[in-house]
Amino acid sequence: MTQETMNFAGQVAIITGAGGGLGRLYALELAARGAAVVVNDLGGSVDGSGSSATAAETVVEEIKAAGGRAIANAADVTDEAAVNTMVAEAVEAFGRVDILINNAGILRDKSFAKMEMVNWNKVVDVHLNGAALCTKAVWNVMKEQGYGRIIMTTSPSGIYGNFGQANYGAAKAGLWGMMNTLGLEGAKSNIHVNCIAPSAGTRMTETIMDAGTLKMLAPENITPAVVFLCSQAAPTRKVLVAAAGTYTLAEMVETQGIHLAEGDRTPEAIAANWGRIADRTDAEPVNSAMEGVAKLVKAMANA
Ligand code: NAD
Repeated sequence: MTQETMNFAGQVAIITGAGGGLGRLYALELAARGAAVVVNDLGGSVDGSGSSATAAETVVEEIKAAGGRAIANAADVTDEAAVNTMVAEAVEAFGRVDILINNAGILRDKSFAKMEMVNWNKVVDVHLNGAALCTKAVWNVMKEQGYGRIIMTTSPSGIYGNFGQANYGAAKAGLWGMMNTLGLEGAKSNIHVNCIAPSAGTRMTETIMDAGTLKMLAPENITPAVVFLCSQAAPTRKVLVAAAGTYTLAEMVETQGIHLAEGDRTPEAIAANWGRIADRTDAEPVNSAMEGVAKLVKAMANA
């Protein structure tokens, strides 16, 4: 099968948290394929403490040494004014913004019983509110252009859960929810919004996985999935799961369920019918809340 090379010449990408880990690899690849890149990174530690402009600057030097175009930015994605300045600088330097990869992230894991709310708030702030601020800052630029590709970084923890990560999982699931609505709102302006759900050996996971697993989960395996989601060929409102060279689609589906007649709608009837309610035969994705309501109305009409 012949495959056309994906080229990003003339396009501009903003990648948050691109001073290391996965974001750095996305930045290098998009720049190698012709995009001008804004390399954003606060340069802090895994738990979000500290900061340094060096992380972003080093990646910019790498891109330039390879003949690419890039500028560094050390904005904290939770700082609205700094994020707006970052986008304004991107437009000033390169004229447009085609791609936003919301990748910046931190971890503050603890079982829920021991989690202090300060660590809940900080994790939700960086992942969810940070992505919302960055997306808001590019949204009208993309609408006016009639083109945009936005990638949210969710996680298997966000879509399936993971012990000790209630804060992180909630934030990552929130990004998925944001994608579902923004994908609808952006459709007529050719703004596609998708999620990547990676598993990769980076500084974020190096202390929680053994050496063999980390080797298998090379972060380079995630880049092709993200570059695809950045491209004109990208779908919209999808969750692409990527790990160790395997790429799958994660999707929420709803079962056919049952319809109970008025007067029969009791908790006892729900319990008695649980097997049929939960039966996954013919389960389907629901494309929007309105489609979900329409499906219920149809079920009532048929009852
Ligand atoms: P990483 O720690 O190497 O990268 C995260 C980057 O975000 C860091 O460079 C950090 O400095 C930057 N950052 C943190 N807070 C910031 C802020 N407020 N403003 C700007 N930059 C900030 O880890 P990674 O594994 O490359 O993670 C990248 C993304 O992928 C994260 O969103 C993470 O949650 C997600 N993710 C990673 C995995 C995995 O297995 N590594 C799994 C699921 C999701």
